[in-house]
Amino acid sequence: MIWVSHIAVGAGIGKVFGLNYPLVILGSILPDLVEFFSKRLEHRGLSHSLIIAIVLTIALWMTPLKAVMLGVLLGHLFMDSLTITGIPLWDEKGRRITLFGGRIRTGSAGEFVVSGLLVALCFLLIGSFNLSMDRRDWSLLYHQGVIDKREYYEHRFKFF
Ligand SMILES: [Zn+2]
Repeated sequence: MIWVSHIAVGAGIGKVFGLNYPLVILGSILPDLVEFFSKRLEHRGLSHSLIIAIVLTIALWMTPLKAVMLGVLLGHLFMDSLTITGIPLWDEKGRRITLFGGRIRTGSAGEFVVSGLLVALCFLLIGSFNLSMDRRDWSLLYHQGVIDKREYYEHRFKFF
């Protein structure tokens, strides 16, 4: 997949989950950046490892870097797994994974159609429901007059 597709889908994921855009977008191109700057890694080898990405996502889940890792997993590895080359389970020597038959050719019209549809889905359909992982902004609700002062004081330290 080319960067435009990764970045667009990464932004869509940021929208759906209410994540920090720069971080999730950075994540959505990170495997290719790592590959580019390392010079020693094979194309779509360890930098695209599904196992490494999952382990890091779990390890960083309680930190702001969760946004980066969700970008890596959903904005990058998921998208690359739709292509013919797919992504490695571990590294370039082992098993590779492709989703939906891995029919997409990188840079083809199919890539733009699929990423365009995913982005539209994120922003138009799911985005309007907003599955934000962040806490509710009680002070905003109070200042908008949606809730009164008592409700605001009761809820302001509630995190769930
Ligand atoms: Zn890639």
